Amino acid sequence: MTSPLTFKKVAVIGAGPAGLMAAHMLRNEGLDVVVFERAAQLGGCWVYSAEVESDLLGHDPTRKIVPSSVYASLRTNSPRESMGFRIFPFVPTGKVGRDSRRFPGHQEVLRYLEDFAYEFGLNKLICYQTDVRHVGLETDGKWMVKYRRVGGDKGSDMAETYDAVVVCNGHYTEPQLADNIPGIDLWPGRQIHSHNYRVPELYQDQVVVLIGHASSAVDISRDIAGSAKEVHVTTRSEAAGKLAKFGKHPVYDNLWLHPMIEQAHEDGRISFQDGSVALADVIIHCTGYKQHFPFLHTNGVVNVDDNRVGPLYKHVFPPALAPGISFIGVPFYVDPFFLFELQSKWVAGVLSGRLSLPSEEKMMEDVEAFYSELEAKGIPKRFTHRIHDFKQLSGWSYEYEDWLASESGCPPAEEWRKGMYIASVDRAFKQTETFRDEWDDEDLVLQAYKDFMQYLS
Ligand code: FAD
Repeated sequence: MTSPLTFKKVAVIGAGPAGLMAAHMLRNEGLDVVVFERAAQLGGCWVYSAEVESDLLGHDPTRKIVPSSVYASLRTNSPRESMGFRIFPFVPTGKVGRDSRRFPGHQEVLRYLEDFAYEFGLNKLICYQTDVRHVGLETDGKWMVKYRRVGGDKGSDMAETYDAVVVCNGHYTEPQLADNIPGIDLWPGRQIHSHNYRVPELYQDQVVVLIGHASSAVDISRDIAGSAKEVHVTTRSEAAGKLAKFGKHPVYDNLWLHPMIEQAHEDGRISFQDGSVALADVIIHCTGYKQHFPFLHTNGVVNVDDNRVGPLYKHVFPPALAPGISFIGVPFYVDPFFLFELQSKWVAGVLSGRLSLPSEEKMMEDVEAFYSELEAKGIPKRFTHRIHDFKQLSGWSYEYEDWLASESGCPPAEEWRKGMYIASVDRAFKQTETFRDEWDDEDLVLQAYKDFMQYLS
């Protein structure tokens, strides 16, 4: 059982949606909060930047990190009603210059996050342009946070101690690359990771191969198809093969979907497992990201192994270090903002002493039972934090979200929220080209807006 006085001063790392919500919930429970943010503004991933990293594949650990992975044309892939925080619905503001579409562009998400921060007075908690370089446990049980002003002199690290640290650094900046592509090392073309994709103009009249078939690959392939000579999307996912047919795309006559690359050749050709060949100029790796905590020093207590961050009790607390350090936003294939809200409420409740955690042993048992369950189901480690399985829409439950809600004293996910999330994922598969502008879940939208009345003053 934690005491309210033990965890008074809390550091939050990151002022993206997760860090903003964590800061709000922590302060709401009476804690002193400082948010460290490397960038010069809040919003995390949603701050679009035309700038790309010096190493387009992200191999160089000393490269300057650009936190944003959004491209100029990006519109949300979830509807605004279920995407927004529960306590601050993401409704059109009606203000001039704002984007009122149900699946708005990335600028609107940033404006929404700025509105959220303004509404709850969060700006004054944020130290901008501070790059956290070290988080470690001291012998007195406090957490040392060392940080450096971005652009400051080398060697000018500053250090402060905190009772607890909440890690909200996001997981969309450290590229994961496709491995085992025979011949790729000698292939002479240009390679980039989707983290560094911004606009299609650079691909004018080029032959582009995209590896991967998740949301970013689908979006970027359509974005590029307008100007590229040919676009070839390759996927190892069987689901992609079932949901979208291999071969030429029915709408875009310069876009093909192939199974994986068989061989990259020294003369620039790429051959695919379906026997077709393209003489390609560029490969874009749309292959996801790695969980990455370069600042974290826990003497090996918390590790990242094949994208499993562990051990974490319920994806949040490492049992041996809880509740002094916690992680918000590790899961994926979720509605992230709602999840951040529930996780933040739980963490804030625990740190304020309102809620208690099971013993370290019980938490560890829970983690081990969870890992055994994954293993028994044949789910690979890299999917440890995948909350929903997009291939099995019908079997979805909001078990994890509802567990968090009940643990932290919030109502469970609303029925409309669940239905809308499932419906929008389903539509994204079935009407890939139109799901952002054509839908048939107006009844759920109506229920959502009825619900929002209690949060809108
Ligand atoms: P981030 O938004 O990445 O924020 C992390 C913050 O931490 C950043 O500001 C970063 O600068 C800061 N930081 C990191 N390390 C340090 C450090 N050492 N010191 C100081 N500060 C640090 N979600 C949706 O709900 N709907 C969508 O349509 C959607 N589309 C997406 C499209 C793309 C291309 C991507 C990449 C993601 C998309 N997402 C979408 C998921 C998106 O990541 C989440 O919505 C959300 O932005 C993640 O929030 P976060 O706060 O966890 O991380």
